[in-house]
Amino acid sequence: MRFLTRKRCVVTKDVIVIGGGIVGCAVLDRLARRAASVCLLESGDDVAVGATRANSGIVHAGYDCEPGTLKARFNVRGNALVWQLADELNVPALKCGSLVAAREGGEEGLAELKRKADLNGVRAEVLSRERALRIEPMLAEGVVAALYAPDAGVISPYQLAIALADRAVLNGAEILTECAVLSLKKEDGVFVVGTAKGEFRAKTVVNCAGAEASAVNAMAGAETYRTEFRKGEYYVLDHTERENVSTVIFPLPTAAGKGILVAPTADGNVIYGPTSTPAEKDDTSVTAEGLEEIRRNVPLTYARPSFGKCIRVYCGVRTVVGHDFIVAPSEKVKGLIITAGICSPGLTSAPAIAEYVEELVLKELPLPLKESYIVRPPVRPRLADLDEEGLNALIAKDARWGKIVCRCEKVTEAEIVAAVRSPLPARTVDAVKRRVRAGMGRCQGGFCSTRVMEIISEELGIPIREIRKGAGHSEIALLAVKEDGYDEV
Ligand SMILES: Cc1cc2nc3c(=O)[nH]c(=O)nc-3n(C[C@H](O)[C@H](O)[C@H](O)COP(=O)(O)OP(=O)(O)OC[C@H]3O[C@@H](n4cnc5c(N)ncnc54)[C@H](O)[C@@H]3O)c2cc1C
Repeated sequence: MRFLTRKRCVVTKDVIVIGGGIVGCAVLDRLARRAASVCLLESGDDVAVGATRANSGIVHAGYDCEPGTLKARFNVRGNALVWQLADELNVPALKCGSLVAAREGGEEGLAELKRKADLNGVRAEVLSRERALRIEPMLAEGVVAALYAPDAGVISPYQLAIALADRAVLNGAEILTECAVLSLKKEDGVFVVGTAKGEFRAKTVVNCAGAEASAVNAMAGAETYRTEFRKGEYYVLDHTERENVSTVIFPLPTAAGKGILVAPTADGNVIYGPTSTPAEKDDTSVTAEGLEEIRRNVPLTYARPSFGKCIRVYCGVRTVVGHDFIVAPSEKVKGLIITAGICSPGLTSAPAIAEYVEELVLKELPLPLKESYIVRPPVRPRLADLDEEGLNALIAKDARWGKIVCRCEKVTEAEIVAAVRSPLPARTVDAVKRRVRAGMGRCQGGFCSTRVMEIISEELGIPIREIRKGAGHSEIALLAVKEDGYDEV
């Protein structure tokens, strides 16, 4: 329902979700199945721009979470749901299993993980070196045994979040980007949410603001948390390394986390990382020390480190509140549901967190399921998956399938146009990149970025000078060559 106040439009919703990371998108997707007006407000230019953008993309099995915690519960349930969602939403994913590789003296650590796996109801087995080598021939020489978890794997984290957001929109939910929540208060039993794009009202609010969860709670007078941040740095390797890595290889976990892993990515690269060092919440810098730590640790579990094949480095920041996730209704502000401290395994856990948040929302608002609901959105073909016959059939219908824009990742003009026209449209070069991988390859967008800009410009009717790389003032084309002032730029 919309109604006007004297100055500006106020939009009233049943539920407002604050934050469009994997948790917010999964919550929105669940609620979009219900006969309710639901809306997600995201401060970034797109969904999946916080921790969800830069992590390991591992679908954890759940053997290392402390039994009885929310982490254990949501990880194990989330693992099953992630594989289901990857199938429904056609998101790149690979159930390749994982190994925790132990060196001499690490056998006790493996036994402890196996004990937790049993308590958490996770399939896992301790293997001798010989048996582990049958799963991962590239284990380092010093590895004596390993814990194998067949239900682990990898997924594209941002593509999962975007696919959830797209499905939610197809099912009637609304997403507003560049719409940071600046104030949150309750008036006459209704939440009033202040943003730069106007005021919103809602009966229930779900706080999925990641690193800002405590700050958003504070706006409403709800619980606040001592929050710590830990950065994780990575190497990304070229596709040519993919054939050397069969599974996710972890070292034994320590108090600092799961350790530096070697893993295939769902899109066919390999990653080494992450580090785990205290940081400021926005510090996504990659450091010489971080990269050096990765170089020191990878050879302890993996026999074939290939740092020369690196095509990119990146960094993500974990939000940590105590030892467990917080997923609960606020005790201070009725109608506010809080998700906070969603660090690893938050990507895996997100669909299970969303399932539980839906239960909490239903206790406040009895929202019936819609009679019809889209479970499987139309599949968007990808050149990389097509055979010659399939490609020719598409070219016969639309010549843009014959024009390759990103040569490294083999992405056609037709795929980029589809990304810009998707339910949650890609409006920036990075948003296109996260959806179809144009610019993710060896040349990192050196060849295709300008063409991607032109396509966005043509599709959205925006002048090329206004096309941005990502958030804020990230316009790429500042002045035309030979234009006055060009030399000064
Ligand atoms: C280095 C690293 C490695 C990891 N590896 C794994 C892994 O392999 N497997 C796994 O399961 N998990 C992993 N995780 C954890 C996982 O990435 C996170 O748990 C998950 O992404 C958190 O999602 P989120 O939605 O809570 O937060 P985010 O993705 O950070 O989303 C929060 C969103 O809220 C928005 N926001 C903030 N404030 C406001 C506001 N005022 N108004 C509107 N919007 C706002 C932000 O812009 C952001 O988009 C890893 C994390 C890191 C950092």
